[in-house]
Amino acid sequence: MAIQITRRDLLNGMAIGAVGAMLPAYAGAPKVRLESSMRPGGPATYYPPTLTGMRGSHAGSFEVAHALAWQGQKPDAYESLDEHYDLVVVGAGMSGLAAAWYYLKKAGPEARVLVLDNHDDFGGHAKRNEFHHKDRMILSLGGAQNLDNPSNYGDIAGSLLIDLGIDEAAIAKMAANTPDDYVLGGKLGGDVGLTVPDGDEHLTIGGHWLKFFHGRGDYQAGVRDLPIPEEQKDKLVAFFGGEKDFLDDLSLTKKWDYVNNTSYNQFLVDRVGLSVDTIPILNAHLLILNGPSGWNHTVLEGILAGSPGLRAMGWLADFVDSIGAMLLDELAGDIRMFPDGNASVARLLVQKMIPGVAPGMKGFEDVAIARFNYGALDQADQSTRIRLNSTAVGVREVDDYVQIDYVQQGKPLRITANHCVLACYNNLIPALCPEMSDAQKSGLGYGVRIPFVYANILLENGRAFSELGVQITQCPYDPFQWVSAAPTVTSGGYEPPRGPDDPMVVFMMASPTPADGTEGTTRDLLRLGRHKIYASTFDDYEQQIREQLQKMLGKYGFNHEADIKAITVNRIPHGYAYWYWGLDDPEWEEGQAPHEIGRQQFGRISIANTDSEVTPLMNAAFDAAHRAVEEQTG
Ligand SMILES: Cc1cc2nc3c(=O)[nH]c(=O)nc-3n(C[C@H](O)[C@H](O)[C@H](O)COP(=O)(O)OP(=O)(O)OC[C@H]3O[C@@H](n4cnc5c(N)ncnc54)[C@H](O)[C@@H]3O)c2cc1C
Repeated sequence: MAIQITRRDLLNGMAIGAVGAMLPAYAGAPKVRLESSMRPGGPATYYPPTLTGMRGSHAGSFEVAHALAWQGQKPDAYESLDEHYDLVVVGAGMSGLAAAWYYLKKAGPEARVLVLDNHDDFGGHAKRNEFHHKDRMILSLGGAQNLDNPSNYGDIAGSLLIDLGIDEAAIAKMAANTPDDYVLGGKLGGDVGLTVPDGDEHLTIGGHWLKFFHGRGDYQAGVRDLPIPEEQKDKLVAFFGGEKDFLDDLSLTKKWDYVNNTSYNQFLVDRVGLSVDTIPILNAHLLILNGPSGWNHTVLEGILAGSPGLRAMGWLADFVDSIGAMLLDELAGDIRMFPDGNASVARLLVQKMIPGVAPGMKGFEDVAIARFNYGALDQADQSTRIRLNSTAVGVREVDDYVQIDYVQQGKPLRITANHCVLACYNNLIPALCPEMSDAQKSGLGYGVRIPFVYANILLENGRAFSELGVQITQCPYDPFQWVSAAPTVTSGGYEPPRGPDDPMVVFMMASPTPADGTEGTTRDLLRLGRHKIYASTFDDYEQQIREQLQKMLGKYGFNHEADIKAITVNRIPHGYAYWYWGLDDPEWEEGQAPHEIGRQQFGRISIANTDSEVTPLMNAAFDAAHRAVEEQTG
């Protein structure tokens, strides 16, 4: 039976509505926005991690910035507050929080520091989703997942981890705190399944597909179970197993040229003979890891990201086995994870700077379970403050200080500082600082952040999910391309659900960037992905989630109407920092790349954030923060 491809070339709400109309079974599903901490009698009066519904870029967080970026609109007049700081940081993501920390380390704890963020929670991408059901707290990721190879952190970034108590011993504990089958936590020994449409339901084929891709394990049996034409199965088996060199007519130089200038998917079609209906099976991995599909990766980029092909190149014949194994190890590396992802790192950092948010918290041992008092973030008697729901709209040097204009819940306000670090998105900085040179503005405007959607679904119990036989599975033909159990790790004092009868949280990841070969540069497609996110409502996502989970789990007794207790959709239109792509971007001379021109110091204003490093990793956020602080403090 041929796989039914669900082409969701949906760039606006109208198109999504049309697809919705084709799915009457889910149209009447109840709308869930439960567990809100804002409800009377909830666990706290202001506690964003427990909010459900549309999170991430939530209503109220982006409108002011979009009016500025798209229409050049901002308030004409501002109320000047009687507040002057040593440092104001724009952006309370990992880079902004780290900038505040590095500054305090240098200037001393009495230095007056204010961090502004447009969201109702701190952490930027590193956000926490927290559910409470049946006397149990269940944590999951609202974004950034893990410490990606902390042993690769340089001295600067590494020292910050150590300041937070995440030292070698803690990192070893995190490994021990991660069950052997929890792949997202870095335990690549656990299986990674594959879920494909099969008639009205979905079929999940167990085993370790990331290993199958490289001809390891019983890849032939896995492929034979797929509901795709036999000749496509034969081709996948030959490809995964490295049975032939698919570029054997090319000289070594021409091969090098080919793998650097041809898209990975074009290679799959032209050389491997896969049909466009089969290709998604090999692309789900790229979508979730990197954002764009194999149409935007070169062959080499695809393979270096762990996609199959290395064994089928011939020219590395003697090394393929060891290199294939190395790539898998490299993907896992020494990844370490907290139960709420890097949100725990943000919480450690915030509590270090403002102990009053969680006065009894010890640190690494109990960060995951500590209850934060958000009311303590912005108190006048503290030297360090974090002000949420506040969008910066103008930052300029005036004489020997900086003036910062921002809008807090509709109120235009003005403060001043000796220095300012912009740890927000590069793209917005030209609108914040129109006085910058055109060259700098164009450098800042070059990259496009990579959009994602991460959803968490609270289920009454884990019985149906446990029948899948894998903790994580790739779903190449679904709107959410990877589905996993929420972290089962115990770091930070957390006790995750332990058995199928306990309530569980399912964690679902989607890349909205078009993957169907839509024409355009990677940057064009990333913009389309971002537009798709903004055009999709919570109801659209809820319907997709219910449909996907019902098809995956229905055969195991799952009933979405009864079993789903809450849904949190974290939409992340401005996700990973952009990096340069072989098919689109030239190789710039050192110092001439757009991010290098864009991040130059601008008087009393410096630029942090991962965009300035073209590297979407927490250590890059820390490094950028340190550079910006050093620029300002000399
Ligand atoms: C889905 C996802 C998964 C990831 N997983 C990992 C991972 O596993 N490991 C890893 O190391 N990295 C991961 N990353 C990369 C992550 O981007 C970095 O690790 C890091 O968290 C980025 O920090 P940042 O401060 O540079 O940016 P951000 O987190 O984007 O923070 C910038 C903040 O500035 C705010 N802001 C923007 N404009 C304004 C304004 N005008 N006024 C006020 N505030 C403003 C933003 O809203 C945001 O809160 C992931 C990223 C995403 C999107």
